[in-house]
Amino acid sequence: MATIGHIAVGAAIARGFATAHEPRGRRLRRMLIAAMVATLPDADLALRAFGVRAGDEPLAHRGASHSVIIGPGAAVIAWFAGAGVQDGVCYGLSAMSHGLLDTLSQSERGVALAWPLSRRRFISPYQPVLARALPQPALQRRPWAHVIVRELVVFAPAIAIAAWPGPRGLFGPR
Ligand SMILES: [Zn+2]
Repeated sequence: MATIGHIAVGAAIARGFATAHEPRGRRLRRMLIAAMVATLPDADLALRAFGVRAGDEPLAHRGASHSVIIGPGAAVIAWFAGAGVQDGVCYGLSAMSHGLLDTLSQSERGVALAWPLSRRRFISPYQPVLARALPQPALQRRPWAHVIVRELVVFAPAIAIAAWPGPRGLFGPR
């Protein structure tokens, strides 16, 4: 999927962790980092430049980097990097959201959510997020505008939560 949905959900998760008394800059920084972390699993696409082909291998797109295990992994890395417990959990949830959301998008192979326990690729029975290029019929391409508008509609609730006015988020301590 295009990255709008991942950015929106990462920012919405971070928005939920905002506290009433923290400076605005800190809240926005958390949202920015969470949005970046939420898009990070797609860095596996860069491996194509190193000869990794599409397929069911862990290094292929939507493989290991899209497993739910990336959530606890990102949280631990954030804690080691000096983030507090709350922010670590926030970044972990943001990272984990990526693979789960990708199951909602049309794809040929699905997402290796349970790696390393299983290489099975998961896909939701209903995929509201459109793919730009469909495997069938033979790589039919959709206009970008079509894909982006659909994504904005599907993720409108996340965009609304992320942009919600006022200082405190849903899960932040009072
Ligand atoms: Zn992805």
